[in-house]
Amino acid sequence: MPIKRYLLAPGPTPVPPEVLLRMAMPIIHHRAPDFIPVLDEAKKGLKWLFQTENDVLILCSTGTGGMVGAVNNFFNPGDKVIVVNGGKFGERWTKICQAYGLNVHEISVEWGYSVKPEQVEEALKKVPDAKGLFMQSCETSTGVYHDIEGVSKVLKNYPDILFIVDSISALVAHDIKTDNLGIDVHIAGSQKGLMLPPGLALVSVSEKAWKRAETSKMPRFYFNFKKEREALQKNQTNFTSAVTLIIGLNESIRLLKAEGLENVFKRHARLANALRKAMEAIGLRLFAKSSPSNSVTAIEAPPGIDGQAIYKALREKYGITGAGGQDKLKGKIFRIAHLGYADTFDVITAVSGVEMVLKSMGYSIKLGTGVGVAEEILMEE
Ligand SMILES: *Cc1c(COP(=O)(O)O)cnc(C)c1O
Repeated sequence: MPIKRYLLAPGPTPVPPEVLLRMAMPIIHHRAPDFIPVLDEAKKGLKWLFQTENDVLILCSTGTGGMVGAVNNFFNPGDKVIVVNGGKFGERWTKICQAYGLNVHEISVEWGYSVKPEQVEEALKKVPDAKGLFMQSCETSTGVYHDIEGVSKVLKNYPDILFIVDSISALVAHDIKTDNLGIDVHIAGSQKGLMLPPGLALVSVSEKAWKRAETSKMPRFYFNFKKEREALQKNQTNFTSAVTLIIGLNESIRLLKAEGLENVFKRHARLANALRKAMEAIGLRLFAKSSPSNSVTAIEAPPGIDGQAIYKALREKYGITGAGGQDKLKGKIFRIAHLGYADTFDVITAVSGVEMVLKSMGYSIKLGTGVGVAEEILMEE
């Protein structure tokens, strides 16, 4: 028998059988009447999921495409912007902004920590003519959930700044109320919390951002948000719709609705908490020193053991695909996601796998210690 696989990576994530089945249906044509109700349902479902009255654009691309569009639809070359950079994805904001000629002022956050609202306040004072603030809600590379509520409060006093948030790994796992928090451009991706294959970027755009878009003269063709919005109003997309993924999206949203948004957030919090406590119980340290995310947990490799070797052994010996560390964290950490289609036994599997791998590497551990702790927590109502 081939090794049985357990996908516990922070994207792509497993796809529920209900969604896979829906996506196995024959393709329908994106300009034919059949597709109109499909897109209409997706539009409404996304507003519910993003907790917004805004239009949520449906783009056929990975999440990064949504990030690119957030830069080249609302700004002009030379515009000053602030980027919260506390990991690989924060760094990506800087790189995209710079690729389009924006003038980036970075708030450099030590990896493993959440940005402090005071740091944002300070940056805003230093760059009073900033046009936008870019950040992640969950910084997937470090497993930190940034304090976007705190940042949102600070930004209430700066009405001219566009608040642009990459929630690609956080939506569904965290309660992020787009409108309440005043998020102007809010981005998600299909292959994370939404329990779908890769291929969709979803972008909520506020009226304030649409107004700003009118002044933006950046070159754009594929990611033309204005055209996407016009198409969306006719229950279409500008180019060929990712028909299959959008059908799957509707099924995913149906599953999430049946569970209830509050329960979805609680489930993620419960799974994340159980994994964290189990890792600590076997003597490991969490990489996130403040505000660990409910999407993905970054765990420090114990002294003398290579984090990449743990990640690799989990996959090769036990079929558990988590993630290693990126960039300067390579070898120092490994990551386990509890995101999207994740439940009790995904966490038990992960904890058990980590225990067995560490033991085989000579780490001193009483097998079952972490599993026991996780079980206690997961049995609680
Ligand atoms: C996964 C991820 C992305 C997007 O990656 P793609 O490969 O383009 O889908 C962006 N930001 C964060 C925080 C992510 O976790």
